[in-house]
Amino acid sequence: MKSLSIIGFGTFGQFLAPHLTSHFDVYAWNRTNYEAKAKELCVSWNTLESALEKDIIILCTNISFFEAFLKENSRLINPHALVIDVASVKIKPVELMKKYLPSTCEIVGTHPLFGPQSGKNGIEGLNFVVCPVRTSKSDSIVTFAKEALKLNVILRTPEEHDKEMAYVQGLTHFIARALTAMDVKEFVMKTRAYERLLDIKNFLGGDSWDLFISIENDNPFAKEVREMFKMELGKLEEKL
Ligand code: NAP
Repeated sequence: MKSLSIIGFGTFGQFLAPHLTSHFDVYAWNRTNYEAKAKELCVSWNTLESALEKDIIILCTNISFFEAFLKENSRLINPHALVIDVASVKIKPVELMKKYLPSTCEIVGTHPLFGPQSGKNGIEGLNFVVCPVRTSKSDSIVTFAKEALKLNVILRTPEEHDKEMAYVQGLTHFIARALTAMDVKEFVMKTRAYERLLDIKNFLGGDSWDLFISIENDNPFAKEVREMFKMELGKLEEKL
């Protein structure tokens, strides 16, 4: 079996691991020690040096940490590794991987459009965006995602991805945060539309603050969509 390391064993790294352990020898490294959690998930705990020697390296840390991490550690990265990121924005991490990874590394950007909440009953049929960057292995990654993980694969460039995600995530997570701050409640007399509104809050309101900041600030198109939304709210209020 090929060796695969998960760098960043936070919410998403821990969620991802069990989907990979029957296909790869999975190793993990994290700044905070989650060795016990790794053991529970049948993942081998590794030093950073050893984790970066594996055949496949999946970067699951926050995007805010990407540049410093790649700058500091690119010399430790297996020069023949396939390096994959899972960040919720794509232009920024892809540019950083191209800039800092050894030129012999293969690079694929991905964005799993699911997480612990939406994938709690399984990931079959869920959307998985793949941005091939510098690789001869696109076909095998797509085949693995489709056949082994049963995901719905969507191929996009990083720019196409970020433009769509400015609405799909930038707008939705923005609304979810506001609904959470307002503490909108469950009511007996709810309508289907209100149930959907509560779903937005319940699905997304619990994501980490760092993830929210990344979705809003690291996507170059998200601010414009938020501004449009706020302007339309203002116009509606004026009409009322
Ligand atoms: P998270 O729970 O906040 O975990 C963040 C990870 O980054 C942790 O491993 C954290 O280490 C590490 N990290 C942050 N700053 C660091 C620093 N300065 N030095 C070293 N390590 C640092 O976030 P997450 O939800 O797992 O998100 C991780 C990635 O997955 C993001 O790129 C996100 O866009 C992507 N993603 C998440 C989801 C989701 O539903 N959560 C879905 C799809 C994609 P510590 O534990 O030591 O803080």
